[in-house]
Amino acid sequence: MVRGALRPGSKFLGRMELFSQGEFQLIRREGRELDTATEVSVISHNQMLRTEFRAFAGAGLFTEWLLTVINYGNEPSGPVYRLVEQVFGLLEAGAPAWPVICGSVVRLLQLSGHGFSTDVCVACGTGVEGAVCWSHSSGGVVCGKCGEAGFPVKSGIISFLSRAGNSSLESLARVRLWPGGYIQCHSLLKEYVQVHLERRLLLKSEKVMKEILDAGH
Ligand SMILES: [Zn+2]
Repeated sequence: MVRGALRPGSKFLGRMELFSQGEFQLIRREGRELDTATEVSVISHNQMLRTEFRAFAGAGLFTEWLLTVINYGNEPSGPVYRLVEQVFGLLEAGAPAWPVICGSVVRLLQLSGHGFSTDVCVACGTGVEGAVCWSHSSGGVVCGKCGEAGFPVKSGIISFLSRAGNSSLESLARVRLWPGGYIQCHSLLKEYVQVHLERRLLLKSEKVMKEILDAGH
């Protein structure tokens, strides 16, 4: 948020847009809630994120997740910054939005201390393979023996989530799931976060993303 940036004559006009990346010079004063921005130079315009509707919806949904999961203040966070940069860069380059979003949400959860287990049963600690169940409250997969503690989840979703924790977003963007697979994956992540943050998530862009999918784009 930069107050007054869009006023006529503002030196920020055209140098600061939704989802663009810039370098700001700020003056910080003791006791003031807002810093004063004095200079800005554009690093990436990310124009596609404002002009291409799929990329726009994807960037919007990722941003809603970011603001929900990460507690932000005046402390810089290199890993979160680099993740935002990567996600916007991939969407700007035309990468499919769903794998990028689902993958980046897994990263956001890891960075905020809400990570989950995808390869070891959260109830008994043994390695899991094949058909598994999932438990939001216990924090991930449960094996066949401890199955009552969770509900069944398709193994394709578990392997995607596992891969999301260990490989680059770029390679995740190339992963294809069955029709509707990413919607299921996204719902699982949303329910998981609702349990862990103990509140309902209102992700407005999720509806837009689903409508785009239903319209066959
Ligand atoms: Zn177990």
